[in-house]
Amino acid sequence: MYHPAAPQDQNNPLHLPIYECWFCATQWIGFSGILFHLEDGRCVKKDRIRTLAFECPEYGFYGNRLRDANPFFCFKCGAQFPQISHLFHHVEHTPSCSYLLNNSECLGALRNFYIEYYECPGSDFIHY
Ligand SMILES: [Zn+2]
Ligand SMILES: [Zn+2]
Repeated sequence: MYHPAAPQDQNNPLHLPIYECWFCATQWIGFSGILFHLEDGRCVKKDRIRTLAFECPEYGFYGNRLRDANPFFCFKCGAQFPQISHLFHHVEHTPSCSYLLNNSECLGALRNFYIEYYECPGSDFIHY
């Protein structure tokens, strides 16, 4: 018997975790979703998400150089990315690379770094 998928399953077929923006309370599918939103520069200072990626101690496992056209790469397959949200999107959707999101791996460490950082946002938060 055919059971149509629930709407949220169509939007989130991989059952990625949902993250709520620390500043505007919008909800995003996967950590790549909230990073893409924050890179937009409306909730935190423009470019802060990119520079913050290089302040995490693990950056040698996913970062080239900040000024490169593609500052980020996948440690598993070597694919290059212009934004950190693109790298997270890649590993979320590539089963052979997704282990990098584990807490003990580089992108899991970066995710936790962002989360800990923005629980105490300091001067990055744009006040309206
Ligand atoms: Zn927001
Ligand atoms: Zn990869």
